[in-house]
Amino acid sequence: MPELPEVQTVVNSLNELIIGKEITSIEELHPRTLINQKNINIIGSKIISVNRRGKYLIFVSDGDWKILAHLRMTGKFIIVKNYDKTEKHIRALIRFSDDSYLLFKDVRTFGFMEILKANDKPNSLEKLGPEPLLKSFNKKYLTEKLRNRKGSIKTILLNQHIIAGLGNIYVAEILYKAKISPLRAGNSLKKNEIDLIVKYTKSILKKAIEKNGTTIIDFSGVDQKSGEFQNFLHVYQKKRCKCGNPIIKIKQAGRSSFYCERCQK
Ligand SMILES: [Zn+2]
Repeated sequence: MPELPEVQTVVNSLNELIIGKEITSIEELHPRTLINQKNINIIGSKIISVNRRGKYLIFVSDGDWKILAHLRMTGKFIIVKNYDKTEKHIRALIRFSDDSYLLFKDVRTFGFMEILKANDKPNSLEKLGPEPLLKSFNKKYLTEKLRNRKGSIKTILLNQHIIAGLGNIYVAEILYKAKISPLRAGNSLKKNEIDLIVKYTKSILKKAIEKNGTTIIDFSGVDQKSGEFQNFLHVYQKKRCKCGNPIIKIKQAGRSSFYCERCQK
């Protein structure tokens, strides 16, 4: 599942490839992919920027609308000059006046694009926690959030209402670098440990964005290139830690956790 660095990689490419293009048609090829409850007409206007909030993409237009999108498990945006109708798993498409297309491909069909009014404030965005790379995600904020939480630090960091954009891969890597077991209760963390989580959240995400994200199963950017951060992972889906101990794999809240019992306490 794409996390913050993978979504940012897609957003960066879209900003290079579709800005200023005029929309001439939009089509849904699979039900519930393209949500347009207000019947907003987007034909004839242009996309002027693509932004990210957590794992959401936001297409901003020069009209009175925007598109909120989420890749979920397997969603991908692809830009093509010629749309080949035999291409599988295309769930929605936008055609531009230069005859190029923005395709939304999604094998598992959990992703979506939702057309909203420009000033709409969807709950899904309003409820998100701070962006981890901004100053608002800091030691003071995280200390406050962890104070009364008895749940595991792993599940707390996955909670998008506490911090936006993290998923299984990056939480595993952050806790490994911070030398903290994913099983620790949120309210058991000491000041210096909270400091390390904040520090490594920022540095690991920054590096992953530089490497165009992580390709584990099938993530690829708009240009179809794979990310490279998988070459820098220490613990996620690894068999052995640098210290020599085996990496332990357990389930927490239905999701796999990877950690080293010797290095992470
Ligand atoms: Zn170890």
